[in-house]
Amino acid sequence: MHIINPATEEVLATVAEGDAPDIDAAVKAAREAFENGPWPRIRPHQRTEYLLKIAELVQQHAEELAHVITLDNGKPISEARNEVARAAEVFIFYAGWVTKIFGETNPSDPSLFNYTLCEPLGVCGQIIPWNGPLSMVAWKVAPALACGNTVVLKPAEQTPLPALAFGQLTLKAGLPDGVVNIVTGFGPTAGAAIARHSDVDNVAFTGSTSVGKEILHAAAGNLKHVSLELGGKSPNIIFDDANIELAVTGSATGIFRNQGQVCCAGSRIFVQQKTYDEFAERLTQAASSIRLGDPLEPRTTMGPLVSGEQYERVLGYLKVGKQEGASVRAGGERGPQSRGYFVRPTVFADVKGSMRIAREEIFGPVASLIPFQDETDAVLQANDTIYGLAAAVWTRDINRAHALARSLKAGTVWINCYGILDPISSFGGYKQSGFGRELGKHSIELYTQAKSVFIKF
Ligand code: NDP
Repeated sequence: MHIINPATEEVLATVAEGDAPDIDAAVKAAREAFENGPWPRIRPHQRTEYLLKIAELVQQHAEELAHVITLDNGKPISEARNEVARAAEVFIFYAGWVTKIFGETNPSDPSLFNYTLCEPLGVCGQIIPWNGPLSMVAWKVAPALACGNTVVLKPAEQTPLPALAFGQLTLKAGLPDGVVNIVTGFGPTAGAAIARHSDVDNVAFTGSTSVGKEILHAAAGNLKHVSLELGGKSPNIIFDDANIELAVTGSATGIFRNQGQVCCAGSRIFVQQKTYDEFAERLTQAASSIRLGDPLEPRTTMGPLVSGEQYERVLGYLKVGKQEGASVRAGGERGPQSRGYFVRPTVFADVKGSMRIAREEIFGPVASLIPFQDETDAVLQANDTIYGLAAAVWTRDINRAHALARSLKAGTVWINCYGILDPISSFGGYKQSGFGRELGKHSIELYTQAKSVFIKF
C-alpha cells in the first residue's frame, strides 16, 4: 500500500497490505501470548512498569512521532506534538490502573465465601481511524494491556505509520512476544477479518457510523464484545449572555482543529438571535486568520485534509451547502496551494436545521451557524440529530448550564469550553454515535469480565 503525504500528494512510504491470513496469524500469536505467555500472569506491578516504559519511550521519541503523524495525517506539527504528549499520558494513566482492578467480596449465604474476579477478555481486536493515528492507538491499547489482554490492531489505510512507529517502541519496551500485534491493510479485508474472527474476544472500533454497523453484524458470529465510537454532528450553543470572545475562540478551535476531522467537532453552532450577527462576524474573522499551509511549518494552524477522498468529500459538501442556500462567510473553496488536499476554513451562515450540511457529518473545516430563540428551542434543535457524541454550551448562567448539561443527549458536554478530553473522564456516544465508553474507569470495564466464585465451607 502506498502511503501519501497529504500536503504534497507524494508517496511517503510503502507498507504491507495485510489480509485475512495475516490477521489470522496475528490472532494466533495473540492467543498464544494470552493462554500460555507471561503477560496475563506476571505480577500486576510488573505490567505497570511495562506501561510506564512505553509512556517513557513515547515521550523520548516525541519529536520523531510528531513528525510521522504530521507527514502521514497532515495535521499541524503543534497539534501532532500535543497528540504525542496526550498519548503518553494515557499510558501513564492506565499504568496506575493495573494494580487497582479490584474484584469484590459479596455478602452471600453465610455458609459460602463468594467473591467476584475481574478478568481480562483475552484477544482484543482494535480498528482505528486516521484522524488521531497515535491517540487512538493509546486509547485502545493502553487499557487493554492494563487489564492483561493481548491485542491485534489495524490502523487506518491512510495513516499506518504512527501505529508502526509505536509498535517499534513496544519492541524496545521488551513486551513479551504476541502481546501487541499490528497489521496494516484495508478495512473491508483486514479490518473485516478482525471483526468476524471467531477467536477474537472483543472488537473496539472508532470510525464511521456505517462501518460501525457492519462491525456489529460481523461480530455477531462468535458474539464478541463490541464497543463503537462513531460519528457526530455536535451542537455548540452560544447564549446571549456568554463571554463572546471566549465563545468565538473556543468555537473556532471546536470546529477547525485537526482540519475539522474530529468526531466530536462542534459543526453545528447555534447562536441566540441577539448575538447571532456579531458572533458570525467574529467567527468569520477567526476563520480568515487561520494560517493554512505546510503542516511542518511551526506557524501553520491548519494543514491539508488527510486524503484525496476526504478532500473530494468535503468539497462536495461545500457545493451542497451553497446549493441549499446557505451563505458563505469565510472559505467555501479549496486552498490556494497547487498541490495537497487543502480546504479553506469555512463558515456557512443562514443554515437551517433541515439542510444536509446541518445533518450529515462532513468531517472537515466547515461550521454551520444556526440561530435559536431560547433555551427550549436550543435544546430541541441541538438534539434533533441521529448522533450524540458531544455538545457545548456558552453561558454565564450557572442554572442554565446545569439544566442544559442534563437535557443534551450527548456523551460529553462542555460548558464554556470545547474539546477538552482527559484520560480520567469517559468518552463515547449516545444514539448512533455508538456505545461503550472509553477512557477513565470505563475502559477497564470494556476490557474485563466478571467471574463469580462460590466456596462452600
Ligand atoms: P471508516 O469508518 O471507513 O474507517 C475507520 C476504520 O475502519 C479504518 O481502519 C478502516 O480501514 C476500517 N474499516 C473500513 N471498513 C471496514 C470494514 N468493513 N470492516 C472493518 N473495518 C473497516 O472511515 P473512513 O476513513 O472511510 O472515513 C469516512 C467518514 O467516516 C469520515 O468522513 C467521517 O465522517 C467518518 N469518520 C469518523 C471517525 C471518528 O472518529 N468517529 C474517524 C474517521 C472517519 P480503512 O482505513 O482501510 O478504510
